[in-house]
Amino acid sequence: MDQPETLSPITALLPWQQPVWDELVLRQQRTGLPHALMFTGLSGLGKHRVTLKTAHWLLCTRREAQGLSEACGECHSCRLWEAGNHPDFIVCEPQDGSRQIRIDGIRKVNEFLNQTPQISPCQVVILHPAEVLNTNSANALLKTLEEPPGESFLLLESERPAAVLPTIRSRCQSVPLALPEQALSMDWLQQQGVPAEQAEEALRHNHFAPLAALEWHRQGGAEKYQQWLGNLCHWAEQKQRLDVTIKYWKDDDLAELLSWMATLLLDLTKARSGVPEALLRETRVTNRFACATLSLTKLLALHARATSVLGEIHSGASYHNRQLLLETLLIDWQSMLTSNGS
Ligand SMILES: [Zn+2]
Repeated sequence: MDQPETLSPITALLPWQQPVWDELVLRQQRTGLPHALMFTGLSGLGKHRVTLKTAHWLLCTRREAQGLSEACGECHSCRLWEAGNHPDFIVCEPQDGSRQIRIDGIRKVNEFLNQTPQISPCQVVILHPAEVLNTNSANALLKTLEEPPGESFLLLESERPAAVLPTIRSRCQSVPLALPEQALSMDWLQQQGVPAEQAEEALRHNHFAPLAALEWHRQGGAEKYQQWLGNLCHWAEQKQRLDVTIKYWKDDDLAELLSWMATLLLDLTKARSGVPEALLRETRVTNRFACATLSLTKLLALHARATSVLGEIHSGASYHNRQLLLETLLIDWQSMLTSNGS
């Protein structure tokens, strides 16, 4: 339970977020907003920026009287927001290295909402990501979601709404953030200093989500991915031992390794099924693997396995035997390559 260190005075929207904001403001003006909203969309679209801006706006003391479509930036509430010290606002997220939101976090939310607002006309809680609420936490939150005490708003964020418990999901109104047109993302990335060719590659590797693409570019994602792929190919071509291959990946995040593997498998499945290379994420993929001879059954099984473990990690599962998991996936990978196309 933390307040962000700096709450921006008026959080600027990213170009693709404006339609969502306009819709939200319109909804508020017409019917008022419901007490529980779930902001959904892929990672890398800036959901948290939109929920912060919403919280700031809802808390602004001049919003209602003046019919403002964003926070005024001048009232007592807005000044406290700017100072990062607003008594009517909290953020609930996984704590102490846990991947899950535990019940004590939700108890703090409930206690907070049972107080009355000190400055603003309402209290606001941002909870993210909603898919890592464990069952106990979700149960503890249900009553608050159904009958929020006083004037309060719960703003949940989720990149995998299907993984959020239905009891939670059904009590929230959805605010979906859509993927921007590729041309808009390309323009924006180039404005951030990413050259066009690299911007295009970064988008392809990140489900076309612009913020994720920017972060990937800044972290040297292309180089890391090519190193991973090179090692995988060496193993697959039996030029490198299993333990040596896995050792090369020791500093890579397990979720990232699985995500690379899952998307490469999807590319291979498409290539195996005759999808043109230009529509694949990794355009050089068919040169590196003899796609025509791959077993479709094994491709799909391996893809399902990688995505299933990835889903468990994203839903807050804290423990996987990394070494064993990577060994099994690599052995299955080689078996897929050496089978004969059924
Ligand atoms: Zn204000």
